[in-house]
Amino acid sequence: MQPTLASPLRDAVGDKTAKALIEKLDLHTVGDLLHHYPRRYAERGEVSDLGALEIGEHVTVAAKIDKITVRPMRQKPRSKMLEVTVTDGRRYLQLTFFNQAWRERQLTIGRWGLFSGKVGQFRDKLQLNQPDYQLLAEPGELADSQGSDVLAEFANALIPVYPAAANVPTWTIARAVRATLDILADVDDPMPEAIRRRRHLPDLDGALRAIHQPASKEDLYRAKYRLKWDEAFGLQATLAQRRLAAAARPATARPPRLGGLLEAFDAALPFALTEGQARIGDEIADDLAAEHPMHRLLQGEVGSGKTVVAIRAMLQIVDSGGQAALLAPTEVLAAQHARSIRAMLGPMARAGELDAAETATRVALLTGSLAAAPRRAALAEAADGSAGIVVGTHALLSEGVEFADLGLVVVDEQHRFGVEQRDALRAKGGETPPHVLVMTATPIPRTVAMTVFGDLETSALTQLPSGRSPIATSVVPVAEKPGWLARAWQRVNEEVAAGHQAYIVCPRIGEATAEEEDELDGADDPNLEPPPEDEGTAKRPPLAVLEVAPKLAEGPLTDLRIGILHGKLPPDEKDAVMSDFAAHRLDVLVATTVIEVGVDVPNSTAMVIMDADRFGVSQLHQLRGRVGRGSAAGLCLLVTDAPAGTKARERLDAVASTTDGFELAQLDLEQRREGDVLGVAQSGRRSRLKLLSLIQDEDVIKDARTEATTLVSEDPELRAHPGLAAAVDALVDPDAADYLEKT
Ligand code: ADP
Ligand code: MG
Repeated sequence: MQPTLASPLRDAVGDKTAKALIEKLDLHTVGDLLHHYPRRYAERGEVSDLGALEIGEHVTVAAKIDKITVRPMRQKPRSKMLEVTVTDGRRYLQLTFFNQAWRERQLTIGRWGLFSGKVGQFRDKLQLNQPDYQLLAEPGELADSQGSDVLAEFANALIPVYPAAANVPTWTIARAVRATLDILADVDDPMPEAIRRRRHLPDLDGALRAIHQPASKEDLYRAKYRLKWDEAFGLQATLAQRRLAAAARPATARPPRLGGLLEAFDAALPFALTEGQARIGDEIADDLAAEHPMHRLLQGEVGSGKTVVAIRAMLQIVDSGGQAALLAPTEVLAAQHARSIRAMLGPMARAGELDAAETATRVALLTGSLAAAPRRAALAEAADGSAGIVVGTHALLSEGVEFADLGLVVVDEQHRFGVEQRDALRAKGGETPPHVLVMTATPIPRTVAMTVFGDLETSALTQLPSGRSPIATSVVPVAEKPGWLARAWQRVNEEVAAGHQAYIVCPRIGEATAEEEDELDGADDPNLEPPPEDEGTAKRPPLAVLEVAPKLAEGPLTDLRIGILHGKLPPDEKDAVMSDFAAHRLDVLVATTVIEVGVDVPNSTAMVIMDADRFGVSQLHQLRGRVGRGSAAGLCLLVTDAPAGTKARERLDAVASTTDGFELAQLDLEQRREGDVLGVAQSGRRSRLKLLSLIQDEDVIKDARTEATTLVSEDPELRAHPGLAAAVDALVDPDAADYLEKT
């Protein structure tokens, strides 16, 4: 019987090869092997760029033999060492073989081959020690090598180069693939005919063959298009299924109530809602009044006023007798939210107290660092329902936290919470699941919204409240213009003299090892990962809060009241510093990125970011969002010693040139590795998206989403398409669907 995609590998290749593929590459079935796509294709006569090699990497390079030397080894004069130098025409790579002088007969100058091994270094030269290799047939040889396995592998114009493993070099994989394709039964195409026709998709059988053995570049392009489509479709079908399943669950309807807290709150608001706030507010009000749970993502430009939208949703829940929980990523932010919600509600938040309004509720704050007594009080208020709003950090998720009737979960600055945490809170909803509103601080490129958050309905706040002055951002290049730094401190003094406040941000806390700091200040957050080091990053350690603050206090900012804030401070101290700053008992806050998200002190008008090149683009945009909050003009200075013309400087110039967060998010996406976007890197799980790129394949993703959504809405389980259902399952297992939400 001919093997199919589901057959075990042993049905297609020899036992020894099958064993190696299973053990080293985790490939078990014929389908696994055929979905192990080449990483790239070497073209006959085309050589690899030896300049791109990195030490420690396992590589396969195509290069030409340039020089051969045989010499006795110094320690063992009777042993011979064979040194072969290969070249890409510009650079050289050394290959060394010990006691294998016979290879000299094979390896002759001018021959072209593939060489595979781990890149090492010896006396400043890159080398491959004892590499595997395959010499490529000379054009003349090809003719009489019919039937020769080794040469036939390279007979194609485009030579597949596979992700390989130690002892399973790319040609072993190529040979296994070829043997498999020779005997494989025609692959049934699970994609419905109508979709294939509408989207001009080549058939699966041809695509699988062509990606391994492309006859031409066009052939390869078409094959890749089809296989990318399958990935996008599988993803979108899963997300559509999740949306459908979520919408089918029952929830308690929480319609707005006349004469309630929400009405009073709106009446007391010191400003008019923006058009976007009002429109999204209506959408959410309708969602909450429905008998199925809301799952909505609210994304918005920094400072667009998401918090007000969230508070209004929470008040609608309280008005209808339920409770709302607001989950914040840091204690600083949780405390700030509780403080500002209480302030905005005034007597409406003081139920049980003398001056309480008639309809009043209470706002409880629950964080990990609370002392025993206030913690007990907060827990009691949550459990008996007297707190209509419970604000907290992930302490809210812990056992022992109970709600009388949880109707809404709001997750602020979502990117720091994974899906498990959302689920944990959702589980506290008792009989019916609560509605969920997720807010994200960073504007998200469209493709990411469609994939990573594809199971949520999305709303976007693009407009800032009126009366905001734009933030002016400038790069302060200390290497070229040393005088500008002094001018920066002068500007800070001027802002303070005018009654305003300022932030100074440093990448590091100081007085701690880098590792310790990694655990603090959200450095483990994949979205905030500083960009990879590039030529602009100086080798000295980044500037630190604990070192910069005293220098400023003794030097250029000597007359100002300076506070420091970072993740290593005890929580009550953090809270005290933040309150002092909010109440203008401090002029300047020297801080790490703890202030990055959410911190809202409208009187702050200036921010100086030290070693700005150490931060990512979106992160810088977030940070400066802290100073565009009041009516006075905001100023953000990006201090760097990265030289002009480097990538680091380009990033900073981009941030300085636009305040459009969506544009910057797109730029950030392009600079980050894909795996990071999908959260694969940190979960350690193997990504099943091999070809699809969130950056380049927006159209594929969009089309696949349309088709998948239609198909799934007609046939949620894909019963009419069992093959497709299986393919979707294989592509996106439940674990994988989870990590898609975790960025
Ligand atoms: P973000 O969307 O970044 O979380 P916030 O919710 O913190 O933004 O709001 C930023 C600031 O704008 C706050 O000080 C808030 O009170 C204020 N604000 C929100 N909505 C409006 C509005 N419609 N008009 C004026 N100011 C507003
Ligand atoms: Mg916010």
